[in-house]
Amino acid sequence: MQEARFYEKLEGGRVWCHLCPQSCRISPGHVGFCRARKNEGGVLCTLNYGRISAWGIDPIEKKPLYHFYPGTQIFSVGTFGCNFHCGFCQNWQIAHGEPLTQTCSPAELVEIACRAEERSGSIGIAYTYSEPMIWYEYVCDAAKLAREKGLKNVLVTNGSVEEEPLRELLPYVDAMNIDVKAFTEDFYREICRGKLGPVLRTVEIAYSRCHVEITNLIVPTKNDAEGEIAALVDWIASLDPAIPLHFSRYFPQYRFNLPPTPLATLKKAREIALKKLKYVYIGNAPELGEDDTFCPNCRNLLIERTGYRTTVTGLRERRCTQCGREIEIVN
Ligand code: SF4
Repeated sequence: MQEARFYEKLEGGRVWCHLCPQSCRISPGHVGFCRARKNEGGVLCTLNYGRISAWGIDPIEKKPLYHFYPGTQIFSVGTFGCNFHCGFCQNWQIAHGEPLTQTCSPAELVEIACRAEERSGSIGIAYTYSEPMIWYEYVCDAAKLAREKGLKNVLVTNGSVEEEPLRELLPYVDAMNIDVKAFTEDFYREICRGKLGPVLRTVEIAYSRCHVEITNLIVPTKNDAEGEIAALVDWIASLDPAIPLHFSRYFPQYRFNLPPTPLATLKKAREIALKKLKYVYIGNAPELGEDDTFCPNCRNLLIERTGYRTTVTGLRERRCTQCGREIEIVN
């Protein structure tokens, strides 16, 4: 076990973790809310440093990132634990269960990522599947080594992290997909056992320092009110209307048995968002076919997506081949 960062020692051997807004005060022998940090005799230790619960090579579109090296692959890894406890968790087996793990040092991870680059054209490492912010020390160490090797670092995160660790990590991060799960504190408190405010702060800090896309999973009756979606869209547009937004279809998982999000709700959300934002997608609903990228100026088809098959059709050197508009894409 490795000593954690961002904590202070309290009286009686207790520790106070400052990595994320859960702000856990932990007694000796106990773990924090995320189950990834433990007080060992008055020292806060990471339990998941170098522990991998899942890995694989995924299309970058699966993160989802649609405006970051479209059509490429990325070596993807995850650990266990989470600093939220969402009732509809789509990865609950590793977020809240006890998955089998294998050990891998940052140097070994980067070596594997380099081999994936040679064999599959993988562009780097995505820290995903579980919450990377509570894997902080390992992600930092691996990301620095990966950067030295010319690999990209991608975080798929719930965005719940304190400002200081976030700012320290960002220079090594190339892209993030950040979940904004809803636009009310009530939803975050009651359904995720977290807070909305710090997530918004993470987006606000990150979007001007690395490539950012946002995912919003629409859960029927919980966060699907048109006014709430409009408020989320207004806030994103106030930062930058070119930030891609992915609405995602909910399916029953973990402790939630509500029916899947109606397709009409997703279509309506996209209609609302397109009034203010340039790039709006619908995920987990292939029957709607709202995965393609169009030029915001002339509606030329730029990138066509069928499942995870991606074809760049209307882009040349990041410009629309029809009207010449520069498109907000990193590649
Ligand atoms: S990282 Fe874990 S232990 Fe630290 S405050 Fe967040 S939930 Fe608590």
